[in-house]
Amino acid sequence: MIVTITGSGTSQGVPVIGCECKVCKSENYKDKRLRSSIHIYYKGKSIVIDTGPDFRQQMLNLKVKSLDAVLFTHEHKDHVAGLDDVRPFNFSQKKPIDIYCNDQVFKALKREFHYIFDPKFQYPGIPKIKRFKLDKGIDTYIEDIKIEPIEVMHYKLPVLGFKIGKFAYITDAKTISESEKNKLKKLDVLIINSLRIKEHLSHFNLEEALSLINELKPKEAILTHISHFMGLHDEVQKKLPKNISLAFDGQKINLSQ
Ligand SMILES: [Zn+2]
Ligand SMILES: [Zn+2]
Ligand SMILES: [Zn+2]
Repeated sequence: MIVTITGSGTSQGVPVIGCECKVCKSENYKDKRLRSSIHIYYKGKSIVIDTGPDFRQQMLNLKVKSLDAVLFTHEHKDHVAGLDDVRPFNFSQKKPIDIYCNDQVFKALKREFHYIFDPKFQYPGIPKIKRFKLDKGIDTYIEDIKIEPIEVMHYKLPVLGFKIGKFAYITDAKTISESEKNKLKKLDVLIINSLRIKEHLSHFNLEEALSLINELKPKEAILTHISHFMGLHDEVQKKLPKNISLAFDGQKINLSQ
């Protein structure tokens, strides 16, 4: 299984428009963060988690030639806004793209991308998608790939994280119930959101993410959904324990599963 971090930034991305801070002005490629998303290549399938506003650029950067499925975590724009750009895959694969989401996300997609779903607006140029329902506590299969949705809370909004074997991806979490945490033990790799140093209403800050990692004890943890307020990548990385890293765009994780 190969996981690629296609975006490790929070909702505004890094650099932030108009910002002159040292992180936004940094020349280090690890300080340039597209909106959070990952690509998974596993058992011959090409899967992405979320299609944020940078989806097109992310697919170009990674030179993704085919797409089998999209899993959605939640309906915030930084996670869904790029859905329209599945069209090149529709054209090249000559079929709809399978999307997996809960009813809450599907309702939002129908509102935000009404022309995709409204029979009145059907014509050859619009995205073609096929929706599969996925929800907390219900294992979902993409052929023989088992996906376990994990519910986390983004302040008051439920968000889904995904566990695939000994790998899990959690973003936009602020709290996780004990029963959902239990599903995240004995992982080889955990990718988890960590916004910045200071506390935030709806995201883990660095301290909260580190304390959760300490509780769950994955072999390796990677922090994502990062704001410019986190600081320079290389400076923050130096202060982290050996098995914990700050994500950067283009980072690849090879899992033996
Ligand atoms: Zn987000
Ligand atoms: Zn900045
Ligand atoms: Zn969000």
